[in-house]
Amino acid sequence: MSGDDDRTAPALPDEPVPLAQPVVRRPTVLVVGSGFAGLKVTEHLERLLPADAAEIVLATPTGVMVYTPLLPQVAAGILEPRHIAIANRAVLGRTRIRLAHVRSVDLAARTATLLHQNGDTATISFDRLVLAPGAQTRTLDIPGLAEHGRGLKNLAEAIYVRDHVLRELERANDTDDLDERRARLTFVVVGAGYTGTEVAAQLMRTTRRAAARLPRLDPADVRWVLCDQADRVLPGLSESLGRKAATVLKRRGVEVRLGISVERVEADRVVLAGETVRCHTVVWAAGVTPSPLMATLGLPTEEGRLVVDACLRAPQDEHVFALGDAAAAPDLTKPKGTLTGQTAQHAIRQAPVAARNVAASLGHGTARPYKHHDLGFVVDLGGLSAVADPLHLTLSGLPAAAVTRGYHLLSIPSIGSRLRVTSDWLLDGILPRQLAPLSVQSAGDATIAQAESTQIYG
Ligand SMILES: Cc1cc2nc3c(=O)[nH]c(=O)nc-3n(C[C@H](O)[C@H](O)[C@H](O)COP(=O)(O)OP(=O)(O)OC[C@H]3O[C@@H](n4cnc5c(N)ncnc54)[C@H](O)[C@@H]3O)c2cc1C
Repeated sequence: MSGDDDRTAPALPDEPVPLAQPVVRRPTVLVVGSGFAGLKVTEHLERLLPADAAEIVLATPTGVMVYTPLLPQVAAGILEPRHIAIANRAVLGRTRIRLAHVRSVDLAARTATLLHQNGDTATISFDRLVLAPGAQTRTLDIPGLAEHGRGLKNLAEAIYVRDHVLRELERANDTDDLDERRARLTFVVVGAGYTGTEVAAQLMRTTRRAAARLPRLDPADVRWVLCDQADRVLPGLSESLGRKAATVLKRRGVEVRLGISVERVEADRVVLAGETVRCHTVVWAAGVTPSPLMATLGLPTEEGRLVVDACLRAPQDEHVFALGDAAAAPDLTKPKGTLTGQTAQHAIRQAPVAARNVAASLGHGTARPYKHHDLGFVVDLGGLSAVADPLHLTLSGLPAAAVTRGYHLLSIPSIGSRLRVTSDWLLDGILPRQLAPLSVQSAGDATIAQAESTQIYG
């Protein structure tokens, strides 16, 4: 019979044997996305969590944070694309950056799958997950939209739109077919929110200037049509702002069609309810929808945004935090049930709160809820035209333009980028705008699905 009783007791060593040192693993905080919310929250986490307290990992497909409110000015050829892109590494220190999309998350195993641009995948473990993947262009099930509609949610799309409209002008100049010329000189923008309104207003100026330089074109033949299902311009913002923006659009010659929906998009036309507009350009700016990643988590969502409490934490999983456009956070300044708006203003301000609460969950400091009163909105219509309601005081014309540009300069989170944007604005005032297509992207790369990687989740 064998058993403990039969074992011979080992001889005691003369010298004490050193005990093996336990391996202390630092918890990993995984931040997803390097936009307004993701880059800022990572920066704050570096400050709040001592280096030996946690490893911080940022997973993001690009090495930059894009200052999206100025994308229409990139499309209009006013700003250089790189000037509104803030390098992640210029802001961050010890954070490990993984240049990849997070394609899926296994909350039970606390792992995430990374998808690199070349198709390679990798798995990463985390102890805290901070989700800030933002939103993407909201598309509808409209025939032809996926093939022919162009979004304006990232730099690649803004560069493509600029190039595309300039190419259309060249082709209009080139053709002897007057119907084709008219179609190529017609540009349709769907969505009269701030993005669509800025695009139509600013690109009308750009394309008329460019047309004036082409020998066979009359700038007056350039048409921009802005349409929306809603019954007014800037439907999400105050009525007075919408009225003032509509006046500027009218003065500039933009055709505004309200209360109208798109039925079909084809390569050379867009079919609106009751009307066909021949054109080769449809900029789709009809709102955004949260990153599809949020719906794959198995946690409650509201209109695709991950439900979080006022501390930006998922109530069903205390290891998960979310902020920015992809989070459904309660707005404590408004009636119960109201969510914070999907704006840069909220994304930036949620970042320090989320970082503080993640740190608190790891034993560093105390948590606090997010609360911020909206400061109003600015809409740059190009030149000296803008509308703005800072602190809910409606402005237009020069005062609004000054407030708008000042607001952007203060909000760009990098002194270098502020200087570059300022120099672009100054140079645009004194030099002729460079209006030649670069033709560096193919049309296939510029579909919304391709440019925004909407179909990688599964
Ligand atoms: C043209 C335009 C104009 C705008 N103008 C204004 C304005 O004037 N004022 C205002 O307040 N707001 C404005 N907005 C809205 C504002 O840009 C957003 O509210 C803000 O960007 C939200 O910040 P975010 O960090 O949540 O998302 P984003 O800034 O969009 O950042 C998301 C980040 O996540 C990354 N990402 C996406 N998916 C994944 C993934 N699966 N894995 C890893 N990373 C991922 C993206 O690459 C990006 O880095 C504008 C938006 C647009 C498009």
